[in-house]
Amino acid sequence: MTLIDSDATLEPLEFAVTKNLTAKNPSERAQILADPGFGAHFTDHMVDLCWSQKGGWHRPRVQPFGPISLSPAAAVLHYGQEIFEGIKAYRHADGGVYTFRPDQNAKRLRRSARRLALPELPTEYFLQSLRELIAVDADWVPSGDDQSLYLRPFMFASEAFLGVRPANKVAYYLIASPAGAYFTGGVTPVKIWLSEHHARAAKGGTGAAKTGGNYAASLLPQSEAYENGCDQVVFLDPDGNVEELGGMNVVFVHADGTLVTPASDSILEGITRDSILALAEDRGHTVERRSVSLQEWRDGVASGDIVEVFACGTAAVVTPIGELRAEGFTDTQPTGTLALELRKELTDIQYGRAEDRHGWLVRLDA
Ligand SMILES: *Cc1c(COP(=O)(O)O)cnc(C)c1O
Repeated sequence: MTLIDSDATLEPLEFAVTKNLTAKNPSERAQILADPGFGAHFTDHMVDLCWSQKGGWHRPRVQPFGPISLSPAAAVLHYGQEIFEGIKAYRHADGGVYTFRPDQNAKRLRRSARRLALPELPTEYFLQSLRELIAVDADWVPSGDDQSLYLRPFMFASEAFLGVRPANKVAYYLIASPAGAYFTGGVTPVKIWLSEHHARAAKGGTGAAKTGGNYAASLLPQSEAYENGCDQVVFLDPDGNVEELGGMNVVFVHADGTLVTPASDSILEGITRDSILALAEDRGHTVERRSVSLQEWRDGVASGDIVEVFACGTAAVVTPIGELRAEGFTDTQPTGTLALELRKELTDIQYGRAEDRHGWLVRLDA
């Protein structure tokens, strides 16, 4: 697999490594890994890299995980110039630590960077940052069923400047957080609230970039979902078509076996979705990426033409949607077996239990 595109000639970075002298001991770590939850515990180290207009990417470091020193005038705190990624590391039965399609996350981080007027981190540096963190924190990759180490790369405007323009100083960080099985006691269908008064993305906006602002915009409607007894929100795009959930893409399964997923330039293109659809195509399913109106969804469910609806993303992998609720209606969604079959097929590849025929896995600890 070719991981490197335009930056094939870059020299690897020389990371300065400072070990954490107060790292968790093996029994403290084992206690956390026994029930890590999601996003609540962090490994002993983090990686960081600076960028400046003059010096480009510089000062690569591996440091103890801890607070970041930032000027109160740092542009990110005022104007939200920030992007991130989400990717997992998996422990295989042979003890090795693998990750899944990291070249795609690197590419998406570059696309997000362009939209937020941030510098593009070379793909090779992105991959090196993952390897450097695993080199010091590999023991944090859990080995339990459906457990993983969630890797969170992010980049933000660190320049102390209140004028409005792209920052001349930027920081890239990588932190990691052990993650437990998303569903304990079996995958259960989620209830989805239709957000009719709030959008997450505007036409020509930042919907296709993985940036904190999109999430900030989703929090109020998410609270509305909870108040209405739902787990997640589905957003409509600027034309009123089905877009996605706050952090997961949506796929509709039709009676003839066709899988349809919304396409629009306000949707974040998920790597999980792309992989699930590739596995479905391998099985002979037709895949369509096109606009899907709310009416088409509701009519399809009513007529029986839509036989399954699911959401997908790195954190939960694949989640069947069991109900769509809105102010004026509640539509029970049909449930089938394809979503869970594809989920199993994908996680079997990720955890090394099935052949990686697409060459999606990359070993990080060797
Ligand atoms: C990250 C994200 C997804 C899912 O992408 P994956 O690459 O599958 O994890 C979907 N929607 C939004 C808004 C996201 O931020």
